[in-house]
Amino acid sequence: MEPKILLNYINGQWQQSASDVYQDVVNPATGDVIARVPMSSPQEVDQAARVAATAADAWRRVPPAERIQYLFRLKNLLEEHIDALSRMITDENGKTFAEAKGEMRRAIENVEVACGIPILMQGTISEDIAPGIDELMIRQPVGVAAIIAPFNFPGMIPFWFLPYAVATGNTVIVKPSERCPVTMHMAAELLEAAGFPPGVINIVNGGADCVNAILDHPMIQAVSFVGSTPVARHIYARGSASGKRVQAQGGAKNPVVILPDADLDMTTRIVADSAFGNAGQRCLAASLAITVGKARELFTEAITEAAKQRVVGYGLDEAVTMGPVITPQSKTRIEGLIQTALDEGAKAILDGRNTTISRYQRGNFLRPTILQDVRPGSTAACTEIFGPVLGLMHADTVDEAIALVNSGEYGNMACLFTSSGSAARKFRYEAQAGNIGINIGVAAPMAFFPFSGWKASFFGTLHGQSHHAVEFFTQTKVVIERWPKEWSRQF
Ligand code: NAD
Repeated sequence: MEPKILLNYINGQWQQSASDVYQDVVNPATGDVIARVPMSSPQEVDQAARVAATAADAWRRVPPAERIQYLFRLKNLLEEHIDALSRMITDENGKTFAEAKGEMRRAIENVEVACGIPILMQGTISEDIAPGIDELMIRQPVGVAAIIAPFNFPGMIPFWFLPYAVATGNTVIVKPSERCPVTMHMAAELLEAAGFPPGVINIVNGGADCVNAILDHPMIQAVSFVGSTPVARHIYARGSASGKRVQAQGGAKNPVVILPDADLDMTTRIVADSAFGNAGQRCLAASLAITVGKARELFTEAITEAAKQRVVGYGLDEAVTMGPVITPQSKTRIEGLIQTALDEGAKAILDGRNTTISRYQRGNFLRPTILQDVRPGSTAACTEIFGPVLGLMHADTVDEAIALVNSGEYGNMACLFTSSGSAARKFRYEAQAGNIGINIGVAAPMAFFPFSGWKASFFGTLHGQSHHAVEFFTQTKVVIERWPKEWSRQF
């Protein structure tokens, strides 16, 4: 089949990019080119920004209760097409169909939560701040918001922001990941079918040039970004420098601590899913397991067995439980990091390098890798590998384990496995990460909680999802009113 040529969606029209630079979108399991994505120019960002700014004036005047009717329609459309969208996620990203469907479920949940906007964006009022004087605070949209997405959740991550942005009365430009842009292309067809007025939602495909044009554009007021930490830092600095509000979610290196009193079977199953699910390409993937005391031997043996059970292959094949990594370059980078870990003194209990799957010779496959004796401060302890690699570390006490957790640069997630309530409370209190799991391996906040990364995993103040998104996409206006009695007409 001929690869699909992706279009931009601007002002309610599908239009071919003026750029003659295109990039292949490659199925990471089969190696087939499934689409070609344009590297749109800054002029196309400018066109989308102007259109969105024009549409914003009318859109903010649509009452919130009416704006959410578009979201109700969108929710139903996403439900109807969830299988097709999920298959596309598997095809362009590599994760299994079940993982892709779980991803789309989270996207839909954010649409559902944003349907509560008539209450969520309510203001406040204080009567009589002085005799006869009232003060009120209302929330108004910021204007045009841009969403810049990563490859690893192409169907979900734009929806951490988009439903809240439009429900609060903003217009939006989405710049999908150039590695996985087809899912958002399909979702945009559903956004169009939901009937949003032209210019309210726009899609511009491209890479870094497009992103920089967004960051510098004077008509864009807010930028939501999810991706790696170096790029998140850049987005935060450049977007803020041009006066925008910016929320930039970055990378991660997530530790899970296993105490000797943890339920071994449950812990093993959950940690294996966290470390090897989505082939480890999750910002909430467990990448370091820190055993405490006697947990070491039992867990090491159990997790090794669990990792061996992963069936690696094309995510649309039913028995498969782990797909490929996104690109050949990514596979090479991960294999290089495994070698560095070995050179720095770690031992491979399982080495997933040099993997090929007979039916899919062109796929970027790795098998689960488990590295033992990872030293604090080493590359394997500090670097986001973003592949199916779990490093094992050991601590003698809970305090030592928490110190290891807190020594990291990132703060996206930290988890504890235990049956002790007091250890759990201590961990929740002391661990320096914004998403905490207690006997949970992927502590992904539901749509009605903010996605709360800390440290180098987040730059900004207000996170994606829920109340934070509502605050991010609105600016407060405070009004102080005096209406003297003498001015009243007598009726
Ligand atoms: P990435 O940083 O390479 O790309 C993200 C986006 O930034 C893409 O749209 C890309 O076009 C753009 N971009 C890339 N380089 C740029 C540059 N130099 N200048 C301007 N824009 C640029 O990230 P990725 O590889 O697509 O995604 C994986 C990363 O995202 C991992 O680090 C992962 O941990 C992180 N992530 C974080 C979260 C979170 O919630 N914190 C969630 C998902 C993924």
